[in-house]
Amino acid sequence: MEGRVEFHLLVEKELLRCPDCGSASVHRRGGRTRRIRSVPIGLKETVLVVEAPQCHCPACNKTFEVSPPFARAYVRYSLSLARLVCALSRLMPLIDVAALTH
Ligand SMILES: [Zn+2]
Repeated sequence: MEGRVEFHLLVEKELLRCPDCGSASVHRRGGRTRRIRSVPIGLKETVLVVEAPQCHCPACNKTFEVSPPFARAYVRYSLSLARLVCALSRLMPLIDVAALTH
């Protein structure tokens, strides 16, 4: 199993909302890039290179990072990959699941 497919994703403006008050009037203050593993395409590893902007809400003075809707904060795998690993682990040994899903 060789090769890797990478998708580079930007955050949609609609996702830039304060998690506390829901205000869309937030200010971007830098951020970071997250590398999130997702469901393999064929036998190739798939990595989502995702923008994770840091924002500040002036209404409630909160600073927060915007997470993509397909991955929890601070994890390196997508929700769909987690579901695939759980489903495959019922059918085959974990070592084979790990090899298949990287
Ligand atoms: Zn707020």
